[in-house]
Amino acid sequence: MSSSDPGDDRPERRAQRPPGTFRIGSIAGSDVLVSSSWFLVAGLIAVLMAPRVDQIEPGLGAWKYLVGVVFAVALYGAVLLHEASHAVAARRYGFQVHSITLHFLGGVTAIEGEARSPRQEFWIAVVGPVTSLVVGAAALGLWFVTPEGLLLLVVEGLAGANILIGLLNLVPGLPLDGGRVLKAAVWKLTGHVETGVVAAGWGGRVTAVAVLFYPVAQSAFFGVQTTVVDYVLSIVIAMFLWSGATQAIMSARIRSRLTRVVARDLARRTLAVPDDLPLAEALRRAQEAQAGSIITVTSGGAPVGVVDEAAVRAMPADRRPWVATSVVTRTLEAGLRLPVAITGSELVEAIRTTPASEYLLMDADGSIYGVLATADVERAIRAG
Ligand SMILES: [Zn+2]
Repeated sequence: MSSSDPGDDRPERRAQRPPGTFRIGSIAGSDVLVSSSWFLVAGLIAVLMAPRVDQIEPGLGAWKYLVGVVFAVALYGAVLLHEASHAVAARRYGFQVHSITLHFLGGVTAIEGEARSPRQEFWIAVVGPVTSLVVGAAALGLWFVTPEGLLLLVVEGLAGANILIGLLNLVPGLPLDGGRVLKAAVWKLTGHVETGVVAAGWGGRVTAVAVLFYPVAQSAFFGVQTTVVDYVLSIVIAMFLWSGATQAIMSARIRSRLTRVVARDLARRTLAVPDDLPLAEALRRAQEAQAGSIITVTSGGAPVGVVDEAAVRAMPADRRPWVATSVVTRTLEAGLRLPVAITGSELVEAIRTTPASEYLLMDADGSIYGVLATADVERAIRAG
């Protein structure tokens, strides 16, 4: 899901709040952050709206800019409702929602993890545009009963903007909500989530190209005078869409490679030694036994540590006969023991939760199967 930052626990994540954002409060337990770029947008809107304000209510002086600021706040309030609807839907399916961030192109909701079914993906995505359309329709209703004046200008803007946000977000290309609706549909039809992501990612790339040529098409077919602002805006939006779509496609490719990574296939044969054995002797025995890894065990045979390959390399050869193997081992905490049957994204999740260079692979009956090196997993993922 959009820019989720999985795995960080709460206090750490608060410390890691993206630079240039500040917290304005929380909705249903999720932090609401505002990017400082928002002030730029508010300023821009205030300047762009000022001539219309002057027309409707002349003689306001500098106060005429306040109308634009009020509109910008109301507009982003509506964007916040859109994002909050994603957050509420995600929570209903049991996902943790880290934060909602408002930035100059709209908002983003950071949800931990991925939808587990097309139905979840569909509902979490579709509620956003639906919320915007409902808010837009409500503003349109209000527009009919609002008397002429500055309030009407704001209501008119809110109706137009929300209906536009709702419709544009339904365009079937990632990273837009409509892209996730398309992803859900293709996922449902083919049974493969990656196929859904790739289809919706390409939808996003096509949309990006269309946005790039929009100003040209606008002047060619509708005779509308385009300005530099139109071109700059279309380039910024096209880049935003293209990079989001490309990221989605790449991550889908990595994920489909991941599903083929099997811990059992990558296991290194391991040699068990007492942890006070001199390192040089342990290395000699491992070479003799053609073992790709060494673990240390108690006198009763229970594993206590796994030798860290990098620590061995860092140990000068002339010191190796004099140090115990335990000096270069990492103690086997819970996260360093993995079932040998672990595969794919589950395996990567385990490595991410307890980062290490080596893991002990345990058979279902509790016996030692071998050692899994993180470097081997990375190599397997890269090789596909
Ligand atoms: Zn949305």
